[in-house]
Amino acid sequence: MRKGLSADLIARVLGNAPKYTLAELEEKYPPRNLPDGAFVTRFAPSPTGYMHIGGLYQAFVDCKLARQSGGVFMLRIEDTDTKREVADAVKIIEDSMHRFGLEYNDVPEYGPYYQSQRKDIYHSVVADLLARGLAYPCFLTAEDMEKIRENQKSAGFATGIYGEFARDRDISEEEIIRHLNVGEVPSIRLYSTGNPDNRIFCKDAVRGSIGFPENNEDIVLIKSNDGLPTYHFAHLCDDHFMRTTHVVRGEEWLPSFPLHIQLFRMMEWTPPLYIHTSTIDKIDEETGKQRKLSKRHDPEANVAFFLQDGWPTEAVLEYLGNIAASGYEEAKSKGQVKSIWEYDLKPKKIPISGALFDMKKLEWWAKEYIATLPVDKLVSCVRDWAEEYDTQWASRIGDNPEYLKNILAIERDNPKRIRKDFITWKQTLQEVSYFWDDLFLPNKEYEFNKDLLNAFLATFDICDDKDSWWAKIVTIAADKGVKNGDVAMNLRVALTGRTNTPDLYSIIQVMGGDRVVSRIKDVING
Ligand code: GLU
Repeated sequence: MRKGLSADLIARVLGNAPKYTLAELEEKYPPRNLPDGAFVTRFAPSPTGYMHIGGLYQAFVDCKLARQSGGVFMLRIEDTDTKREVADAVKIIEDSMHRFGLEYNDVPEYGPYYQSQRKDIYHSVVADLLARGLAYPCFLTAEDMEKIRENQKSAGFATGIYGEFARDRDISEEEIIRHLNVGEVPSIRLYSTGNPDNRIFCKDAVRGSIGFPENNEDIVLIKSNDGLPTYHFAHLCDDHFMRTTHVVRGEEWLPSFPLHIQLFRMMEWTPPLYIHTSTIDKIDEETGKQRKLSKRHDPEANVAFFLQDGWPTEAVLEYLGNIAASGYEEAKSKGQVKSIWEYDLKPKKIPISGALFDMKKLEWWAKEYIATLPVDKLVSCVRDWAEEYDTQWASRIGDNPEYLKNILAIERDNPKRIRKDFITWKQTLQEVSYFWDDLFLPNKEYEFNKDLLNAFLATFDICDDKDSWWAKIVTIAADKGVKNGDVAMNLRVALTGRTNTPDLYSIIQVMGGDRVVSRIKDVING
């Protein structure tokens, strides 16, 4: 430990006197008044303008743990990188969370929730460390640090500002004043007393207690360029004063774990319980190997992709939920729970490695989900999607909404035999596009038996009920010496261009007599 700085010097070093004492902060942000066992969690993204599916996964885990325990879920914007444009990036985050039903429910008293607005808090805490000789102002320039790094590399030492390489670690008050008098602005560094030969044990809710070498780096707590904290210091202050009980964050933070526990111990604060989540992976198409979903290479790494392509957000969330709580799928199929929100997510069972996100598996969740929707809900989902992402479809639907409803109602009345070929809102429309004349693609490959089509037209009556309609087909087949299925297939392909469709009688009824006659005539005359 070094000698602490005087209050005057702290104010000069920070550019302002600290607004609060630690006791005042404790009073301003008291322990939350929540029932025993309630989780206080937070999703803490940096506003990058991009929401990764792994972020959504973490946000889900946070939200779920808080919700199922009657706790609190916060959204904290980690905007300490002032070079970035924040407003739109935050909108992307908020909008994604809203659309996926991950509502945060914190109260303003524990805010503000933008780190850039919490400078007073960080400065007040760092002032305490400066006064206790556990932090110091550091005047090393970028060039100084580069030189130190080069020297360390050539001598085979670990790089970083630590021990003998931390030039200003034991800087005197007089020297500090000299630097300040010539206008230099310091960063504030931790005065680390850790020794890498010792081990520090850090508790992860899933991995248990993990031993690490103690941290000896004098890491930056407050940056010199903008007076804002580094992630490490902001995490300490915010998760303490926001009274976070569980920190759910990516496994990339594991290496900094010993540093964070060191900081909590220095403050004599109880650290939250940590859940370091696995990366979200995929199987690489080329190598067949499992790898992290990449922002650069995989469109499905981006949450926006699922919205643009019209994936049901509930299904995406169910799938992510099943990754976090692998028993959910079984419990749901046994009818024990209806949705992921009813299933108990056990922190200890959250996977700690290689969580796989497989688009084929997601398709299954999406088909199952869409199959449960009443037709009116399905229509409104498809329509809402089109209005946002496909104006042509939107106006086509708008011209005759009843037509879309009748189309989507096909094979939806028998709960045991609901069609399961709809995956996304976009694909649902593509799947039924043949109902619209301008989108219908006649089948040029199929070898039609025009005789059968002529025979069909000769007795066709749109008012026939299903039995009479079928009886006519049976008669045609018998007359022409073909199978019933041959007649039906000729009709099916003539009307839809496809060999595989839902119930043909329903299709005919929905298309209407004129359209049916004209499509068959087109084939006959074609
Ligand atoms: N801003 C950090 C990140 O995006 C947050 C990590 C945490 O949840 O503590 O990785």
